[in-house]
Amino acid sequence: MPRRFGAYGGAYVPETLVPALSELERAWRAARRDPAFRRELAERARSFGGRPTPLHFAERLTARAGGAEIWLKREDLVHGGAHKFNNALGQGLLARRMGKPRLIAETGAGQHGVATAMIGAALGFATEVYMGEVDMERQRPNVLRMELLGARVRPVRTGQRTLKDAINEALRDWITNVRTTHYLLGSAVGPHPFPSMVADFQSVIGREILREARRRWGRPPHLAVACVGGGSNAIGTFHPMRRTSVELLGVEAGGPRGSTVGAASLTRGRPGILHGSYSYVLQDRSGEIADTQSISAGLDYAGVGPEHAYLRDAGRARYIAVHDEDALRAFRWLAEDEGILPALEPSHAIYAAVVEARRRPKRQRIVVTLSGRGDKDLEVVGRAVA
Ligand SMILES: *Cc1c(COP(=O)(O)O)cnc(C)c1O
Repeated sequence: MPRRFGAYGGAYVPETLVPALSELERAWRAARRDPAFRRELAERARSFGGRPTPLHFAERLTARAGGAEIWLKREDLVHGGAHKFNNALGQGLLARRMGKPRLIAETGAGQHGVATAMIGAALGFATEVYMGEVDMERQRPNVLRMELLGARVRPVRTGQRTLKDAINEALRDWITNVRTTHYLLGSAVGPHPFPSMVADFQSVIGREILREARRRWGRPPHLAVACVGGGSNAIGTFHPMRRTSVELLGVEAGGPRGSTVGAASLTRGRPGILHGSYSYVLQDRSGEIADTQSISAGLDYAGVGPEHAYLRDAGRARYIAVHDEDALRAFRWLAEDEGILPALEPSHAIYAAVVEARRRPKRQRIVVTLSGRGDKDLEVVGRAVA
């Protein structure tokens, strides 16, 4: 597992975290080779998580686009309603193996906090989740879910009071309590080994897509599309496909139409260090982290995982930004054409997939990772379309 992806990645952390990161890397490497660990991960992913998730033909959305076929990888059907479960389960089992009794996590949309709270309950951890006050406000149902699952939600009142600030607080907690605590980081970001480890636990998405594609069509899809916040559902989709012929398209949050930054690190940022890792970062001219803006809390982050920075520079994956208004249109298309309420994060990817499908012949197949369901977003969507 590489420490770096080209120039990107690494571990830019205070001295006190170095032993904890090494311990984590060793434990993870040993666990990957241990058939008992792999068996338990697969069994709990099945019986607790509901895996494997189906690949679903979006027939009426395809007709609306009038071109290539659009297929949905249904991560919205995973327990808890998003792909976050895949990573939380993997790291939870790892933390138990390391003998840590306490889990901490950060959360933006609340989905990672909910996934960590579910795993914390099922495996018997004391669980605390850091969440920005702004996010607590816009994702209230998930705050209640976490509390009902027995986790403590710690409001973060620093900075912009969103995901970036919650990660800062969680890192601070980890530095203080590193002996008893595992920091269950929720995306493919942060210092090594997190980006590689999270990509590994999320790669079940891409592996299942390729397996089902081979069975149905005898070949991989032509294009894979996924939304990119920190980049975990996208890297879980892309990583197993990186040496295939599949075109890869990552979709960032462009923010409201006319906004200059949104939360699009790969399309509008430049290389820099954030949260212990070198990657694309949204920053102002003096290198201060820029304030981000997106209708979806889960994409509202100034950084992105280092493997995406590498895939972008290498030209292996393409990245674009989709505006709030277009994500909302795609939300309604999926609801009205397919009977599925998507989360606002993958709604960005759905929009991009429809645009791509229009340009492509009917014989091509596009797979979009539907990273989560929309229940948490109903209030935001209701207000926006009113
Ligand atoms: C958290 C979240 C995202 C964004 O995170 P990634 O690490 O980029 O996948 C996307 N979709 C949903 C449903 C989420 O909960």
